Amino acid sequence: MHLKPKKRLGQNFLTDKNIQNKILGSLELKPSDFILEIGAGSGEFTGLLAKKVKKVYAVEIDRDLYSLLEERIKDYTNVSVIKKDILKLNLQRYFAGLNKKIKVFGNIPYYISTPIIVHLLKFRRNIEIIFITVQKEFAKRITASAGSKDYGSLSCFVQYYTNPKKVFEIKRTSFFPSPKVDSCLLRLDPREKMPLGTVKEEFLFKAVRAAFNQRRKTLRNSLKGLLPPEKLERFFLKYSIDKNTRPESLAPQDFINLINS
Ligand code: SAH
Repeated sequence: MHLKPKKRLGQNFLTDKNIQNKILGSLELKPSDFILEIGAGSGEFTGLLAKKVKKVYAVEIDRDLYSLLEERIKDYTNVSVIKKDILKLNLQRYFAGLNKKIKVFGNIPYYISTPIIVHLLKFRRNIEIIFITVQKEFAKRITASAGSKDYGSLSCFVQYYTNPKKVFEIKRTSFFPSPKVDSCLLRLDPREKMPLGTVKEEFLFKAVRAAFNQRRKTLRNSLKGLLPPEKLERFFLKYSIDKNTRPESLAPQDFINLINS
């Protein structure tokens, strides 16, 4: 490959053909699909996608890759290159004319995994499903259940909006250059209905962050500034939760109950 990968842009190209095909098979693609590819790079995977779906929107930030990308997809009439930072792409505005939800795929740069997920979830109403490759440890945190050591505010946030699942692991050697850790294909199915309204959601995540900011403290202590103690007491009583409980033992639904009570 005559590319000089840029570390600062998280460029780890997926060069393993078997894994490319395995991912392709996992995306459950239909000929009627519209798919947004985040970080199209040199367009190797973009071409594979284009053969399977109605339309590919390939987002790429690195100007130095545009000529390679455009060369590789020149025979496909169903690919649009979006020369932008994904974090600056307003999906709602961009896909306003489309009366169909899009699918999202990305072998995304690890350094902005969290901001990308947060950004995508803002536009969850436009999205049918998200498939992304992330570091294995990161996938663990996202899918962790209450009580496990990987469970935290990120798990709560993502699990509130989606049903996250690990699809399969990808060895670091499948990438060029190889990152220091193994990866994983992660699938996020946005939930149809959110349990709380927008205002309460904001409060929910404030409480979750406050709770996990001080993991070692009891909930009673870390939420002191946010909720009147009587309310907290009532919540503990109603759901038979130990007063001295720590945040990691509360499932996302428990936090939702707390906000609702
Ligand atoms: N899809 C290719 C490249 C993956 S590497 C493959 O699988 O081989 C990650 C890609 O994301 C790189 O091409 C990098 O330039 C691009 N990228 C990094 N930050 C980005 C951002 N903020 N917005 C869009 N693309 C970005």
